[in-house]
Amino acid sequence: MKTVAITGTRKCELRNVPEPNVQGEFVKVKILSAPMCTEYKAYQNDGSSTNLGHEAAGEVAEIATSNLLEVGDRVVVMPTYACGRCGLCIRGDYIHCRNNVNALAFCGSETGTATYAQYCIKPDWLCLPVPDDISIDHAAMACCGLGPAFNAMVRMNVDAFDTVLVTGLGPVGLGAVVNAVVRGARVIAVESHPFRTNLALEIGAEAVLDPRDADVLDHVRDLTKGLGVDKAVDCAGVAASQRLVVDAVKRRGDVAFVAESGDLNVHISNDMIRKGITLHGIWHWNLADTPLMWDTVRRAAPLLDKQITHTFPMSRVKEAWDLQLTGECGKIILHPWE
Ligand SMILES: [Zn+2]
Ligand SMILES: [Zn+2]
Repeated sequence: MKTVAITGTRKCELRNVPEPNVQGEFVKVKILSAPMCTEYKAYQNDGSSTNLGHEAAGEVAEIATSNLLEVGDRVVVMPTYACGRCGLCIRGDYIHCRNNVNALAFCGSETGTATYAQYCIKPDWLCLPVPDDISIDHAAMACCGLGPAFNAMVRMNVDAFDTVLVTGLGPVGLGAVVNAVVRGARVIAVESHPFRTNLALEIGAEAVLDPRDADVLDHVRDLTKGLGVDKAVDCAGVAASQRLVVDAVKRRGDVAFVAESGDLNVHISNDMIRKGITLHGIWHWNLADTPLMWDTVRRAAPLLDKQITHTFPMSRVKEAWDLQLTGECGKIILHPWE
């Protein structure tokens, strides 16, 4: 099968590698849609790798002993190789599992953990069947395109009475705008890139503020009768945006941190106790919310067609990465069989 390898700074190639093997509950998935995430950082910084990507949707191509899935089933592939047996896994919070399985050792396979590839392997219970009325590219948005922000909305109970602040409009932040708009919320976003600013406005954000503006917090307050937003999601992951979501949320509001990053200084009395705010650490969504995710994907369909700005055959991955480096894109999807 074909897979993508990064071979140096801004250098990559397609390689032929053996197809993966499966054992036990693991299934082999023929990847038809592989959304691109943050792998461009390795492409930009000589992170030589042949194990790229963690987002995929496709068709079950081979099973070992699974009785949950059949060959030909359309599925979206969830991230990680969680154990499936611990308390976190059993309650659907597999993303926080502490006992991840070594999939390659278990299956006796050299390949199968990358999604910039024609096949991958996954335990059957982490391959969620895709409803017939949802396209495979839209289904793949249940990964990082919509997923982390979806969980932020669920955990904060975002609804049509809320004003939501979204900082950082990369693919995950644009997904936060989509999720909030689908729930009927009013969205204020913060982003400096003109392409992404325009895209968020097209998707339905009411205002997009520039983080380089020294008065950005005042602008948020002006837009919320001086109170601050009901809920905020940080998708930028920089010190200024993290501080902004804490400062811009109203008293008794909720803040979700979706973007990976390091330290944040929070003043326990002024930020937490006096304001009574709740901070949420968000990674990916709970499996019990699968029906709600599919309803979100259905309602979001016209917005997803805006959020997915480009699709490329996997053979043109270099072009796709070079485009990601310009920021002139929303979510980009690779098609490994084109
Ligand atoms: Zn587990
Ligand atoms: Zn991702």
